[in-house]
Amino acid sequence: MDKILRINMGADGGPEIKTEPLGEYAGLGGRAMTSGIVAKEVPPLCHPLGEDNKLVIAPGMLSGSVAAMSGRISVGCKSPLTGGIKESNSGGQPSQMLGRLGYAAIVLEGKPKEKSLYKVLINKDGAQIKEDNSLCMLGNYDLVDKMKAEYGEKVHCISIGPAGEMKMAAASVAFTDMEQRPTRHAGRGGVGAVMGAKGVKVIVIDDAGTAARVPADPEKFKAANKEFVAGLRKHPVTGEGLPAYGTNVLTNVINEAGAYPTRNFSTGQFEGASKISGETQAELENARGGEGSATHGCHRGCVIRCSGTFYDKNGRFLTKQVEYETVWAHGGNCGIDDLDAIAQIDRLDDDFGLDTIEMGATIAVAMEAGVAEFGDAQAAINLVKEVGKGTTMGKILGNGAAVTGRVFGVERVPVVKGQSMPAYDPRAVQGIGVTYATTTMGADHTAGYAVATNIMKVGGDVDPLKPEGQVELSRNLQIVTAAVDSTGMCLFIAFAVMDQPDTFQALLDVINGFAGANLTGDDVTELGKSVLRKERDFNLRAGMSNKDDRLPAYFMKEALAPHNVTFEVTDEDLDQVHNF
Ligand code: SF4
Repeated sequence: MDKILRINMGADGGPEIKTEPLGEYAGLGGRAMTSGIVAKEVPPLCHPLGEDNKLVIAPGMLSGSVAAMSGRISVGCKSPLTGGIKESNSGGQPSQMLGRLGYAAIVLEGKPKEKSLYKVLINKDGAQIKEDNSLCMLGNYDLVDKMKAEYGEKVHCISIGPAGEMKMAAASVAFTDMEQRPTRHAGRGGVGAVMGAKGVKVIVIDDAGTAARVPADPEKFKAANKEFVAGLRKHPVTGEGLPAYGTNVLTNVINEAGAYPTRNFSTGQFEGASKISGETQAELENARGGEGSATHGCHRGCVIRCSGTFYDKNGRFLTKQVEYETVWAHGGNCGIDDLDAIAQIDRLDDDFGLDTIEMGATIAVAMEAGVAEFGDAQAAINLVKEVGKGTTMGKILGNGAAVTGRVFGVERVPVVKGQSMPAYDPRAVQGIGVTYATTTMGADHTAGYAVATNIMKVGGDVDPLKPEGQVELSRNLQIVTAAVDSTGMCLFIAFAVMDQPDTFQALLDVINGFAGANLTGDDVTELGKSVLRKERDFNLRAGMSNKDDRLPAYFMKEALAPHNVTFEVTDEDLDQVHNF
């Protein structure tokens, strides 16, 4: 990957494409690349939907190689949801393809002078951009079909749905999966709205005629990759739990721990959890047959294979196997215990291009306001359809939980820096509460997944209900995560890497064998720290302070059943997280 593709959407005479060498960004990938470019080139006080913001899409450092698990992609910008820096990470095929085509980043900048929509084609001959207003308000599914009909059956897409075109703060960027379906999303922070503001509906990628990137030391790389894969296969989470049930294996685990946010974070256990658990989902999928009976990878080279397919009652494809976070957001958090209804909403979210976490949290806030009853699945489906249509109600909901809470006068709104909390109540998993409060991203479980150590006892054992040890745990995880997000590796490798020193070493050897480097664990830590420092500096320049590193006050006042705990980590301790 030796070049950056820049598309100036605001150039006189129409969008202008140029390809540049990497320059000062050489050696970066994934989150290190997206946050590096945004921190350097985007004025922190700019309007997120204005011409000065940039949308950066970057494959990981190892993407495009045959390294296992290396196909994650990072999307970065100033977030319309949080007002701070954003990197949102996704699976899907485009990362591997962009890596093979040699692109370390795509940067969309400027703003079109006319209100038009554009499509971009990238192949081995370069990149082209064309105006195409026939794509206006197409859902991601129809859009991908249209692009396949136009550019060939093997192309993959990076796209936005109607929510991105309407510049909603919950809008995602979709990436096609192995089956060329738009099921993988950079969901968080409204990155889809920024792509919409740039007027780019879809980036079509065709990697025909390219080959996998070649490692600097093929023998070392091959041996290390083999060892790394063996390590992933022998760990109980990456070798058994995730492949068998997908991420939804967590529903029963988190519910039993009393940390399952139910009906807008009002209690920690959901009486309907077993009806929407991963085990029940797997039984349903097996009974309905087809591809749904086995999990598979969301991109080429995944060996954990936590993804899958969900068929409706008539055996027709409906959506991908619904992820834990989505099952929770549209399920327990809204009091809904119907997997088919949750899968329908997942399909709508993917088609409209919406973050499922933000939308589930938003609908729960609307339910608390009395817009609909908790547990009313049909009402939830109808509300998401309003978002897709862009009605007034839909535009309120499509801008997320914080906006919805303000419009309807709700006090209990579970957001940090304007972004909704995911599927772990911070009172019963205090380590994840520290991450929600202090990550540069707004409430985000993936930024430092303390659930692993608090609940699953991976990488140590820190009591989830007590404040002691949580700051150090979250700090270390945030640092390591920033580094992993830069490699292009799926974050789920962390279970095996944290528990098994030989798997961590194998990962280092994969990186070193590929890059011809001699990185140590300390170098990886330093990479993570440097990414976090840049992100935090951007947020400070955007006007944030330590006062933004806090949970909403009700988490410190309202005790959560069944453990009757409040969030107890002090403000002074939270202020120590970035002290490195
Ligand atoms: S483990 Fe799951 S999320 Fe990660 S790359 Fe594989 S299928 Fe995608």
